Amino acid sequence: MSDNEAKSSSNFIKTIIAGDVAAGKNDSRVHTRFPPEPNGYLHIGHAKAIWINFSMAAEFNGLCNLRFDDTNPVKEEVHFIESIMEDIRWMGFDWDDRLFYASDYFPRLYDFAVQLIKMGKAYVCDLNAEEIRTYRGTLTEPGKNSPYRDRSVEENLELFERMKAGEFPDGSRTLRAKIDMASGNLNMRDPVIYRIMHATHHRTGDEWCIYPMYDFTHCLSDSIEGITHSLCSLEFEDHRPLYDWFLDQLGVFHPRQIEFARLNLSYTVLSKRKLLKLVDEGYVTGWDDPRLYTLAALRRRGYTPRAIRTFLERVGVSKRESVVAMADLEFAVREDLNKHAPRLMAVVKPLKVVLENYPEGQTEELDAINNPEDESAGTRKVPFSKVLYIERDDFMEDPPKKFFRLAPGREVRLRYAYFITCREVVRDDDGNIVELRCTYDPESRGGSSPDGRKVKATLHWVSAEHAVDATLRLYDHLFLVENPLATKEGEDFTVNLNPNSLEVVEGCKLEPAAGECVVGTTYQFERQGYFCVDSKDSSPDNLIFNRTVTLRDTWAKIAKSQQK
Ligand code: ATP
Ligand code: MG
Repeated sequence: MSDNEAKSSSNFIKTIIAGDVAAGKNDSRVHTRFPPEPNGYLHIGHAKAIWINFSMAAEFNGLCNLRFDDTNPVKEEVHFIESIMEDIRWMGFDWDDRLFYASDYFPRLYDFAVQLIKMGKAYVCDLNAEEIRTYRGTLTEPGKNSPYRDRSVEENLELFERMKAGEFPDGSRTLRAKIDMASGNLNMRDPVIYRIMHATHHRTGDEWCIYPMYDFTHCLSDSIEGITHSLCSLEFEDHRPLYDWFLDQLGVFHPRQIEFARLNLSYTVLSKRKLLKLVDEGYVTGWDDPRLYTLAALRRRGYTPRAIRTFLERVGVSKRESVVAMADLEFAVREDLNKHAPRLMAVVKPLKVVLENYPEGQTEELDAINNPEDESAGTRKVPFSKVLYIERDDFMEDPPKKFFRLAPGREVRLRYAYFITCREVVRDDDGNIVELRCTYDPESRGGSSPDGRKVKATLHWVSAEHAVDATLRLYDHLFLVENPLATKEGEDFTVNLNPNSLEVVEGCKLEPAAGECVVGTTYQFERQGYFCVDSKDSSPDNLIFNRTVTLRDTWAKIAKSQQK
């Protein structure tokens, strides 16, 4: 999508709302809501819905509610409610005192159902789920009327009352809207509006053994709350006629529903059902495994809400389904972290360097810049001494032409420190390089050239004596293909999992300031990428950092080389 398109399409909901406000509809009031089902963690797709609902309300000085559409007692859990609230707050949105639960409306919804029965618009049906399905027909064939469709109002009222009183087993009866079994829209073919479920609800306990269906609950909850604009994803377009029907039959306040395209991201899956499978079957460590795109995972991975919002703004709002490139999200994250992340030096695969001419036992405190993009971030002291670590990959004994970093006889700069020259390579009995003997130029303190002589590389380093040890978790795409759901027949999307989505590197050496890194801040390890302390598994004596994102888009490079 081009920039222009994103901008113009981001206006389509705004344009509609602005029109309603200008026309004085609902006294020019704007009231939206975010209505999650508490049956999983929020993912970045939900963040889009959250952002649209809260920002549209803000745009028009309106309000946005948080309402849990908690109609299914079997799949819903209290810890999902807590995680959802934490995630919305983390994204920077606030529902103030407007926290609602559809379950609080159960008594009113029951009354609405009774009202429909009295109007001859709903009936108790004794068909079981399987039979209802067969009677429903298909997209090309009309359905058949239920044999129970013409029960009298009295009989329906009595049976519904007895359903509520717990006289019937699960699944034996339902309450259905009496609409049109021949409708071209399957949602209109006498949909079930109440089912029997002898299950304990997380809020209403055992008060109810019949539960309203989502479609019935959702539109009436919006109406009860006086929601002026029900903003939802495209799959609800086909449900709108049903919502209109309920609201019009009952003659209640009628919100205006506007649908937008869901956010889809390449190289991952977002649907809660798929996420649940990955979690339950142990492909990931939990809903907040940093390889997932749940908000809890992104937080743990070091993504900032600011970057996510920038990304969502760029994607914009449209009616057209599309898959957004993961690279676009990572670009927004890099851009944000480049501006805000404090820098540190970390050696991932250490190689020991001994400076032969550096005084034994001496330590210097050198000045390092915390963030070259932000002067106000200031400087810090980094200790320097005779024995250092550099990155193993920054040395080659027999370098090819284009390798400009350290090699025998060659001089390079150590960032913020000195020029050093490699004099000798030390090996162990097996012939592995274990140490470099180098000399430093005392005249080059701070890393500046004493006489104008040039070096072609600047390396990061840490002082061996002062280094803190850490484990790094290097994350990569969880899936190997852009669309993990595209599989051969009979194959599950898990065949597309990337076996190397997590690389754990132990024995990394970090500058001492890394010991003070706090959860909630993401740092740039110079030349290595962005990292944050793992909020779950890290402890002061076992430091664990998650890689948020690499410094560059390495997958773009791979894709390019594959095209060649
Ligand atoms: P999923 O399909 O991932 O399981 P859901 O739609 O069942 O999610 P809900 O809790 O019902 O999850 O979602 C709450 C709101 O978030 C709904 O209004 C829905 O339209 C919206 N939403 C869910 N997924 C996305 C997405 N990928 N992009 C935009 N909005 C989304
Ligand atoms: Mg849903």
